[in-house]
Amino acid sequence: MIQRPRGTRDLLPPETRLWQAVERVAQDVFGAFGGDEIRTPIFESTELFVRSVGESTDIVHKEMYTFPDRKGRSLTLRPEGTAGVARAWIENSLNDRSHPLRLYYIGPMFRYERMQAGRYRQFAQIGLEILGANGPLADAELLVTLDEFFRRLGFDDLEFHINNLGDPEDRPHYQALLKQRLGLRRGELCRDCQRRFDENPLRILDCKVPACREVAKDLPAVDEVASEASRGHVRAVEAQLARLGVRFVRNPRLVRGLDYYLRTVFEVVSPQLGTNTVLCGGGRYDRLIADLGGPAMPGVGFAVGEDRIVQVLPASFRDAVLALPRLYLVPLGERARDEALGLAAGWVRAGVRLELEVAGRSVKAALKRADREAFSFVAILGDDELAAGVIAIRDLARSVEESVALSELPAWITRQTASSS
Ligand code: ATP
Ligand code: MG
Repeated sequence: MIQRPRGTRDLLPPETRLWQAVERVAQDVFGAFGGDEIRTPIFESTELFVRSVGESTDIVHKEMYTFPDRKGRSLTLRPEGTAGVARAWIENSLNDRSHPLRLYYIGPMFRYERMQAGRYRQFAQIGLEILGANGPLADAELLVTLDEFFRRLGFDDLEFHINNLGDPEDRPHYQALLKQRLGLRRGELCRDCQRRFDENPLRILDCKVPACREVAKDLPAVDEVASEASRGHVRAVEAQLARLGVRFVRNPRLVRGLDYYLRTVFEVVSPQLGTNTVLCGGGRYDRLIADLGGPAMPGVGFAVGEDRIVQVLPASFRDAVLALPRLYLVPLGERARDEALGLAAGWVRAGVRLELEVAGRSVKAALKRADREAFSFVAILGDDELAAGVIAIRDLARSVEESVALSELPAWITRQTASSS
């Protein structure tokens, strides 16, 4: 038997309904704040990620799915979404449109990760970027959009962790300070962090190995050496959040796993998952587009991990999505079977969600199936009923049965659903 590759999943019904519903909420909320969807390729030139995400990051260093195509060009399955959006922005001259642009994406990402709970090699992200605004109000709007997205999904216990990464000019100073402080304790770090010490000591703050976390606890925060401009920027973002009642904490260890961030960085943490598997990460990346050869164009964005959202989706949202009422239409007799599809199509047009019994089950078998499949209503259509223009319909939750005029069925279902919620 051929099996799916390690780290991939088959998403099956009814769980796929949850995925669709989460994506609809993202489309609604991001759209309501002026966003539009962008769809970029799932694979890009390897160089794009090396130059944007950064050579010394875990993603580029050990997590990319990179392969030569038939002409020997090096391609990579996208490990994240921002680099592709930035490339598309340059390549399609989106600079010519009025700013800022709010662009969101939804789709699969690929990282060759060690297998553990909540970590897949193909996973999905929902991301939003605001391009062309450099003030703190754009960061705040982005976070408020994110907060609204989580609210509509029914979350009420999430925490925003925020930090100031400083400006790129502050970086060498901070890296030197880290090296100086870490010098004596270098031996306590994990193998990866020994390498990071030389390549990019900032990454040590992001390490999840407990020993490294212990060492990182005592390190100075970037904010302490950051430019006054960047400190003011992040404080202004926080002031907006406080004003709007968005729950956040300043987390001075937060650095994020990508090199292009500066100033504001953030994560969204669920108490159910903890800080090792965060729901969302993001930040500001004012130099990325210029670094990729475009004009100077500031940006700020986030990416939500859709797999993790679905995993911890509040019961209120889950139940509402999975319990959408469905009708099971069972025709009995020759005439009823001839007419049933036409009736079903008409009711669907009127907004009913239904399934037609097309496998020829008996009433008894059909009722058993209705129970097992959690239908809300079963309608039995016999030749006699058809002749009289009515149908016998049973509300399974309430165990009531009624005879309803065929033309009245959509209205009847709407009434039942409204009175039960
Ligand atoms: P982590 O610290 O958990 O490795 P990350 O910093 O690598 O996350 P980002 O690159 O910021 O993650 O991606 C944004 C979001 O995408 C994460 O917060 C997470 O929800 C999700 N995500 C990242 N990697 C995976 C994965 N391998 N499987 C499932 N979801 C993932
Ligand atoms: Mg990671």
